[in-house]
Amino acid sequence: AGSTRKRRIWVAGHRGMVGSAIVRRLAGENVEILTVGRNELDLRDQSAVRAWVARETPDVIILAAAKVGGILANDSYPADFLVDNLVIETNVIEAAHRANVDRLIFLGSSCIYPKFAPQPIREDSLLTGPLEPTNEWYAIAKIAGIKMCQAYRRQHGRRYISVMPSNLYGRNDNFDLSTSHVLPALIRKFHEAKLAGRGEVVVWGSGTPLREFLYVDDLADAVVFLMDNYDEDEAINCGAGSDVTIRQLAETIGRVVGFSGELAFDSTKPDGTPRKLMDSSRLAALGWTPKTRLDEGIAEVYQWFLREKAGEL
Ligand code: GDP
Repeated sequence: AGSTRKRRIWVAGHRGMVGSAIVRRLAGENVEILTVGRNELDLRDQSAVRAWVARETPDVIILAAAKVGGILANDSYPADFLVDNLVIETNVIEAAHRANVDRLIFLGSSCIYPKFAPQPIREDSLLTGPLEPTNEWYAIAKIAGIKMCQAYRRQHGRRYISVMPSNLYGRNDNFDLSTSHVLPALIRKFHEAKLAGRGEVVVWGSGTPLREFLYVDDLADAVVFLMDNYDEDEAINCGAGSDVTIRQLAETIGRVVGFSGELAFDSTKPDGTPRKLMDSSRLAALGWTPKTRLDEGIAEVYQWFLREKAGEL
């Protein structure tokens, strides 16, 4: 009788917010999860990545490793965001092909779409107009990753797919105020203002930009679903289905944290793109929709923050 080996799935970037959520989601499945620490394997080292993938022979690679950051970090370190992401995705995708890995899931971002794409943004808006300047470096690298998956599919028949999540939030997010995204930044700012008894929290920009926030455990569930239910050339959007203004987000976080003071808006900080709500109807038509409401997800993250983070800040 032929031996039936468990599917071996390499989650690249397993310590990050997205990768760790995927590992939690896969833990209940009949699969073998492969991970490798950053001090054992530097994903920017091409020959090391080739050797590791050839030796470990995963059946599936989920590429959740990336250099990520909020609007200020993207704007301040364009070379890092462009080059680190290009190098990581080139190394992992090329090594996957060389080692005959049949299945790979590449994760992108809604910032790949043009700044003024019609809303909600459909997948076929890709490359129809100029990008938002604050994160175009990251976006160009992510667009290249989508194209790499398409190129290996076209030239070599590889079943490599790309998933484009909206803004994400969850456990293991980055709470450093100079490099984080808005949601963890505001959780921290409201928490610290409450503890210090301050009457005001500073929110960057005008408060009017709209953002779509997906709970990362929902994304992880979608990725596992798509691993077995999607095999097309085109990237597929994965969002919450609705968006909120940054002011509404701040008010919701203030309520969850229990802060009763005022909001102040710092107009010296950038707003970024006015809106980037994705059209996730292709994913819904396949049979997947998100479960977690924004206020519930924020409450979960705040509890996690209190347990794991608040003490060390
Ligand atoms: P973006 O979606 O790529 O623009 O990334 P961010 O999550 O960093 O920012 C989203 C929006 O939230 C932008 O309009 C920011 O100006 C605004 N924002 C408000 N307060 C903050 C903050 O404390 N940190 C960050 N990163 N953004 C903030």
